[in-house]
Order: sequence, then structure tokens, then C-alpha cells
Amino acid sequence: MAGPTFDKLAKIMGTEDKEDRVNKIIGKIEERKNVTRDFAELKLHKLVCKGKCDWYREREPAERFNKDDLTEEEEQEIKEIVKGVTDSEFNETVRKDIHAVLCHPI
Ligand SMILES: [Zn+2]
Repeated sequence: MAGPTFDKLAKIMGTEDKEDRVNKIIGKIEERKNVTRDFAELKLHKLVCKGKCDWYREREPAERFNKDDLTEEEEQEIKEIVKGVTDSEFNETVRKDIHAVLCHPI
């Protein structure tokens, strides 16, 4: 499925549809793994979070997640879903974009 991805990559850099994309990714994880939306979001957060965000800092240690319980398999699966939605490999830009949406204070 080779094809020009330049336009799509440029789109990822845009801000207007980042939230939509992240919502889509969460929805697909939810479907694929048959889990709740919150759980799907947590899995995605584990993949993109390096434990330095406000979300993480503001929580008591017991409420924080353990990133290590995200298995290699789950990691690959989620990265594949991300790729399907964004048309981009899971890279640092994609990671930051997703994290910016997930950790945005509600
Ligand atoms: Zn985070």
C-alpha cells in the first residue's frame, strides 16, 4: 500500500483534528480489545506517556499507572491502530500529539 503520505503527514502536524484522531484511536482499541473506553484510553496513555505529565504528577502513587504492565504485544497492537488512523509510523511527533490530547486538563 505504498503511496504519497506527505499530505497526510502534514495533516498530523495540524492541530484541528488531533482530538478526532485520538478519539478514533481510542475507539478502535476499545473495539479490538473489547474493553471500556476508559481502559482503552489508559492503554494508549501508557504507550505515549513517559510519566512526566501533569496527569501523572497530580495523582497519588497508588492511582498512577504502571507502564510496565503494557505488554509488548499490546504495544505493537496499539501502534498498528495508531498507524491505521494517522497513516504514519508511530514516531516522536505522533507520540507527542497523542499525549498532548490525552493529558489536556478536562
Ligand atoms: Zn501522560
